[in-house]
Amino acid sequence: MTYEELEKYLKAGRIACTTLNEAASYIRPGMKLIDVAEYIENRIESLGGKPAFPVNISINNIAAHYTPTPNDTSVIPEGSVVKIDVGVHVDGYIADTAITLTFNEEFKLLSEAAKTALERAVEAVAPGVRFSRVGRIVEDVIKSYGFKPIYNLSGHSIDRYTIHSGDVIPNYEDRLNLGSFRRGKVYAIEPFATNGRGHVKEGSTTAIYALKPNPKKIAKLDQTTREIFEHIYEDRKTLPFALRWYTRKFSLDQLESSMKILVSAGLAIAYPVLVEVSNGIVAQFEHTIVISDKGEEIITTRC
Ligand code: MN
Ligand code: MN
Repeated sequence: MTYEELEKYLKAGRIACTTLNEAASYIRPGMKLIDVAEYIENRIESLGGKPAFPVNISINNIAAHYTPTPNDTSVIPEGSVVKIDVGVHVDGYIADTAITLTFNEEFKLLSEAAKTALERAVEAVAPGVRFSRVGRIVEDVIKSYGFKPIYNLSGHSIDRYTIHSGDVIPNYEDRLNLGSFRRGKVYAIEPFATNGRGHVKEGSTTAIYALKPNPKKIAKLDQTTREIFEHIYEDRKTLPFALRWYTRKFSLDQLESSMKILVSAGLAIAYPVLVEVSNGIVAQFEHTIVISDKGEEIITTRC
């Protein structure tokens, strides 16, 4: 990793950290999700970054992948548990970080379980350490609070312009996972804790998509769908996006029908919301770690 690359990771991390800290003191029950999302995404841009993905605002039993839809009228509910997951990129160098806001005393310990699991997990990250070792720490800490980790959600390696670049850092001791941390690489560690069964499934709403270019398939698209594809690809390449980002340029009807076409043609991937299978409440914390020649640096705590 070059000095310039490390600087860009550090800048992305600083922007993500600042944005998330500000969001944490700003968000209150009763606020509209769309306002929270726009506040966070605008802040990322005003600090000199770009969203690496639409901000995820996942409430209660929704573990991940909820972002406000274009006409979203929902608000942060009283007494809720809210995960704010922010991704920032600077020239494609990505920082990924999340916190849980708990507007209900009853779930403070659940949130603390995920937070402590993350703190212990990042302490253990070093070149040569097995991913499953970190998974075991996450699982042990969360279980010591009397909760379960979410077994089918995991941390991941990060590459330029690629949020999930292949390595899986489990949230339990997965003995089949033989991978280990390497110097020169970047990792997101993200424990999820729940009072439910510890698994997520796909829900019925999708608000996040990513494009998958294929020149042959693009040539067969209708005019409007091709225009939408090209406009979004110019902006995002293969990074995830939300339809609400493009409703100034295209009508929502157009966007929705074109996304259906793109997904079924294999030119786009849909990321449906992920809900806990037993409707358990979910808490999450996440940091991004760069392992450079100088050692391990948690880039999302420096602000
Ligand atoms: Mn994240
Ligand atoms: Mn992540």
